[in-house]
Amino acid sequence: MPTLYIVATPIGNLEDITLRAIRVLKEVDLILCEDTRVTKKLLQKYEIETPTMSYHAHSKLSKVDKIFGLLEEGKNLALVSDAGTPTISDPGVLLVSQVKKRFGKEVSIVPIPGPSAVIAALSASGFPASEFVFLGFLPHKKGRETLFKEIADSKKTTVFYESPHRIVKALASLSSHIGVSRQIVLARELTKIYEQFLSGSAAEIADYFTKNPDKVRGEFVVVVSGK
Ligand code: SAM
Repeated sequence: MPTLYIVATPIGNLEDITLRAIRVLKEVDLILCEDTRVTKKLLQKYEIETPTMSYHAHSKLSKVDKIFGLLEEGKNLALVSDAGTPTISDPGVLLVSQVKKRFGKEVSIVPIPGPSAVIAALSASGFPASEFVFLGFLPHKKGRETLFKEIADSKKTTVFYESPHRIVKALASLSSHIGVSRQIVLARELTKIYEQFLSGSAAEIADYFTKNPDKVRGEFVVVVSGK
């Protein structure tokens, strides 16, 4: 049966890939990549010579038709994103749902689990993690304030992604909603050379970034303790 594998790849450190992911990436007929140039670095490291094709959020319907055609021919495909687990704040959700709708049980959809920044940050936060709320990227405008209010009211640990452009503002807004008693952990550059964890109130961490503007770069996950 043709298979679409959803393959998790490293979020920074290229050693963070499973043996199964390497085998699958070697064995499939084609790898669908968010950005082929990014994935090629990983493929080179593990001497994976499988052909690649781009598939991203803005891919046209003709690309999906091509993917359908390959599955109809019985080909096995792997979907990867630039980092971490595809579909988690990343492209792929639509493709998975379209393949399920079109082929039903005639195509297997198989996850190959591995890194995801949300889980890495949460696992090192020390906050309760049996139940948590993951918000992905917060909206830039509409709904942003409402989400901060929801975080403030939540008894559960909340995790979200934020970009360097908005992190300081996000911490300031968060601080105005949750005050100083709620602890947060900010994970920066997970698994990379300059990996950093900051703990404290949102105001304390915002203050750290104001005093250390050179650290306002890279990738961030914010973990907020429950109420
Ligand atoms: N699919 C990915 C995953 O499973 O984690 C997430 C992709 S999303 C487009 C990218 C965001 O994830 C970044 O802006 C950042 O918030 C977070 N992220 C990804 N890699 C990270 C890392 N090494 N350190 C901290 N945050 C990271």
